[in-house]
Amino acid sequence: AKADGRNCARFFDPSMQDAADRRAAFEAAMRDGLSLGQFRLYCQPQFDSLGRVVGAEVLVRWQRGDRELIGPDQFIGFAEESGLILPLGEHILRESCRALARWHLDANLGRLKLAVNVSVHQMRDPRFPAAVANILGGTGAPPERLYLELTESVFAEDMQEITGRMHELCSQGIRFSLDDFGTGYSSLAYLKRFPLSALKIDRSFVRDIGVDAGAASIVEAIIALARKFKLEIVAEGVEFEAQRAFLFDGGCSSMQGFLLGRPMPIADFEHAYGTAGIG
Ligand code: C2E
Ligand code: CA
Ligand code: CA
Ligand code: CA
Repeated sequence: AKADGRNCARFFDPSMQDAADRRAAFEAAMRDGLSLGQFRLYCQPQFDSLGRVVGAEVLVRWQRGDRELIGPDQFIGFAEESGLILPLGEHILRESCRALARWHLDANLGRLKLAVNVSVHQMRDPRFPAAVANILGGTGAPPERLYLELTESVFAEDMQEITGRMHELCSQGIRFSLDDFGTGYSSLAYLKRFPLSALKIDRSFVRDIGVDAGAASIVEAIIALARKFKLEIVAEGVEFEAQRAFLFDGGCSSMQGFLLGRPMPIADFEHAYGTAGIG
């Protein structure tokens, strides 16, 4: 079947050749970007119900050239397909831990948690726990401030393998959050089986608070569930005062969103929320 005319025609299809070229060029550009330090950490602040900053989420941006700033939705998927997510993820984690070590010396920043998104491809890598130990040791970051955010896609993996790896990482002192909760393969059984410290309520539920009664009920149910399992709860995508009020009245412990603070370059974050800043 491989040699039939159709496949040959497809193989030599010039538009496919273009697509392959484009992928190769993108991959080369990402590799160059990695070695040039073009993947920059942005931080979005997280607040408690009294309006105090309690942490930040790291969101990566690709500063490709002077003017072009590329968001993660444009390259994380590609990085996962090409395998570049492993060196990219390690770069992000190392820079995050360097930040935590710096923050440790500052009275304000030293209290903050830092959440870092981790791809399922990183969790599949048996060398990941050793790489994390190496980064923690090398930077001197306090591990208890570091939260790794996993999406429910990890639940589609070999459960023993993933929970084993999570336990290895937890024994180093770091914690896990379950990101985008309620949007994927969620099952209540996973909340018990995996060593989790926090749940993040997905933006899609927050968006629909006040729009449809169902979303508000789902949010209330998630908060109740998190409390039963003694998990911290972080709401994301808070854009309106009414959403903020509903979430805090309902017992949500912290939140992030454009209402409270946008993702910003990490240096700006440190200036805004460190003792040297106004915040
Ligand atoms: P996420 O982890 O769900 O991150 C939250 C996304 O919501 C971010 O988009 C953030 O900028 C955006 N956001 C925050 N507050 C609001 C709000 O009030 N309203 C709205 N509409 N959006 C808000 P971003 O930075 O484009 O990141 C997109 C996704 O890319 C992230 O979704 C995460 O899955 C992935 N990502 C980002 N950084 C990394 C990383 O370092 N590693 C990996 N593996 N994935 C990353
Ligand atoms: Ca996240
Ligand atoms: Ca999220
Ligand atoms: Ca989300």
